Amino acid sequence: MKNTQKQPGKVWLVGGGPGDPELLTIKAMRVISQADIVLYDSLISDEILDMLPQKCTRIHVGKRCGAHKMTQSDIQKLLLTSARKYARVVRLKGGDPFIFGRGGEELEYLQKHGIEVDIVPGITAAGGCAAAAKIPLTHRQYGNALMLDSGHSQFGEYQKSQSPTRVFYMGVKQAGMITASLLSEGLSDSTPVALIANGTLPDQEVHTGVLMDLPFLAERYSGAGPALIIVGEVAAFAARNQVQAHGEAVA
Ligand code: SAH
Repeated sequence: MKNTQKQPGKVWLVGGGPGDPELLTIKAMRVISQADIVLYDSLISDEILDMLPQKCTRIHVGKRCGAHKMTQSDIQKLLLTSARKYARVVRLKGGDPFIFGRGGEELEYLQKHGIEVDIVPGITAAGGCAAAAKIPLTHRQYGNALMLDSGHSQFGEYQKSQSPTRVFYMGVKQAGMITASLLSEGLSDSTPVALIANGTLPDQEVHTGVLMDLPFLAERYSGAGPALIIVGEVAAFAARNQVQAHGEAVA
């Protein structure tokens, strides 16, 4: 549907999963099936493209190592012009849009231009491929942390990460020890943190702060439900973006 109102349309950054179309989420299927225009990457399978409505405009903006169809800046501009023209714009990416998917850049660009954006997560390649190969990514005996590392930097070659994002599952009760350990590793006490309880559910709570505050945040919000702690510069997005969909953002 052409967007005839003055209000711009909305953009959904949608994760298409690792390849198998059955690993698409129900939410991704619903959003895709209602799209007016879809900008999709090279890793999106034909079976998934077959789910798009007949009348939907399709644009392949795909990138495959080295052979970029469009630059990232062109893609962002196209997303913006699409949102001004159409009511429901879908940016369909392989895996998860926020894991090595430039989703953060697209989110910031669109929000800066006043466009509403929703994120539909997808199964990232690590989870999909490990499951396909029957490799448990964590195991009580063999591996208690998981690292997802980009083997590719914006300059092309591999560079050891200077600013990894750390996500702690089951860490709320241990927040004091986690904080002490991260500080002793050399992390700044002003590193952004986010504590997310009941994530994705109607009673989701997102609380943000800095590493120094983490034990306090954890103590204050423990018991609110299952919670996850994200530590790293990216955690500041939660405060900047005023998370509202299912909860509150507290700076
Ligand atoms: N956003 C994506 C990752 C995009 S980067 C995600 O969350 O999965 C693209 C890289 O992901 C590929 O170069 C490859 O390393 C990996 N990848 C994506 N799909 C894959 C698949 N089906 N099998 C193996 N690796 C895959």
